[in-house]
Amino acid sequence: MPYFVVHEHHASHLHFDLRLEKDGVLKSWAIPKGPSMNPEEKRLAIQVEDHSLEYGYFEGIIPEGQYGAGEVYIWDNGEYETVKGSLEEGKWEIFMKGKILKGNFVLLKLKDKPNQWLFIKKKDEFANYSFRINLKAYFNSS
Ligand code: MN
Repeated sequence: MPYFVVHEHHASHLHFDLRLEKDGVLKSWAIPKGPSMNPEEKRLAIQVEDHSLEYGYFEGIIPEGQYGAGEVYIWDNGEYETVKGSLEEGKWEIFMKGKILKGNFVLLKLKDKPNQWLFIKKKDEFANYSFRINLKAYFNSS
């Protein structure tokens, strides 16, 4: 099964990067508010450049002066599989087996908005209507 990772990225603005292994690279989306396990919270996900598979295991500090400078944590990772649809169709439903992200999700491309997608938890037994995101950085610094 293909790999996925969500990076918690403390750049100039905190955001999360969803990366899904596909065709030998990590397809990547920046999610300003982070993923949610709550089906009622649709998360804007901006598709960004592909990353190498090795980057899927990166945690550390991107130095000052480099693009995306700041701390990067693996917020969640695991495997996923396609349920239906595809990236190319702009409607891609996947089943995620992470430690935090579990069950069915859909990535939906917004019409007439280049690179803009929604990342939405589907209703299933893993849905959590009171989900609140916990930062890795908090635990690592305490
Ligand atoms: Mn980022």
